[in-house]
Amino acid sequence: MTAPKRKRRAGRCQWLQKRWRLRNRKRDLDQIDGDLKGENAFQLLHQEIDHDKPGAGQHYCLHCARYFISAEALHGHFKTKVHKRRLKALEIEPYTIEESERAAGLGSYVQPKKRKMQTQPVNDGTYDVKKEDVDMEDANKSQ
Ligand SMILES: [Zn+2]
Repeated sequence: MTAPKRKRRAGRCQWLQKRWRLRNRKRDLDQIDGDLKGENAFQLLHQEIDHDKPGAGQHYCLHCARYFISAEALHGHFKTKVHKRRLKALEIEPYTIEESERAAGLGSYVQPKKRKMQTQPVNDGTYDVKKEDVDMEDANKSQ
């Protein structure tokens, strides 16, 4: 009787292999930069309900191009290292053809600009509830 086949695990880095598979490919930083602009950002944050996506596509982090299952998970994510690191990475303007030309000696070289990055505005129920409470108190006082 032969010994049962063992899967070979040593030698290759499994998680890197998985990450570089085409179907696992995430959006690149310059693509995300495009997403952050007005119209695109609005559309990504107000998506139709799609049950194939995590959380039906309703909780999306623009900067990380990720879906979350609930508003809480999204809020939790905003406080994580992954998200903060991504904001930092997005601060530098994406590489352009103009920059490459400048670097090659056409015109004078200008350092890529740094921008301020902020977490997307969150519109969840909690703020409305607070407002309503304040309104109620005011109404009671005036009465
Ligand atoms: Zn994020």
